[in-house]
Amino acid sequence: MNHQPFENWMLADQALTAEQKRQLQAHLRMCTRCTALAEVNLALHSARLVAPASGFVDRFQVRLAAQRKTQRQHNFWGFFILVITVMAVLLWLGWPLLAAVYNSPAEILSAWLSYLLALWFSLQALSEAGTVLLRVIPALLPAYFWALIAFAFAGWSLLWAFSIWKFARITPSRPSARSVR
Ligand SMILES: [Zn+2]
Repeated sequence: MNHQPFENWMLADQALTAEQKRQLQAHLRMCTRCTALAEVNLALHSARLVAPASGFVDRFQVRLAAQRKTQRQHNFWGFFILVITVMAVLLWLGWPLLAAVYNSPAEILSAWLSYLLALWFSLQALSEAGTVLLRVIPALLPAYFWALIAFAFAGWSLLWAFSIWKFARITPSRPSARSVR
């Protein structure tokens, strides 16, 4: 089948006379190949006509800003939960030592100071690890993931502080044992 000049007419995208239009329609009724070409042509034309809706860039930027804001909020709450849990654990661990200092201040003071020093260093390591984690892990993670991390940290710091506490309690002379005798 001869597809010319219909193929050229469609590809050239030129204005057709009434007679040319009639001939083209007659050919398209018989020819599937030129019908396909005409459909592709039509689709391309409508695609060219559809521009992005007005304000598309603005909406995109607003959405981006909102996404960044939630990201920052996730960061903040993750760090907040971490700090609160660690502080609660430290307070809970430090309480018996405070009571012991009240009973016999002089002997436990040195142990308490070394304990404080060790705690300070472990706390520094904890906060460093926390900030690194917060920076590295994408904040797109859901909030419950941060809670899980905070609990893992709390457990780890609990073990850490408890081992230090036990060590500090064994080294000095035991006032409780002497007071019994
Ligand atoms: Zn044809």
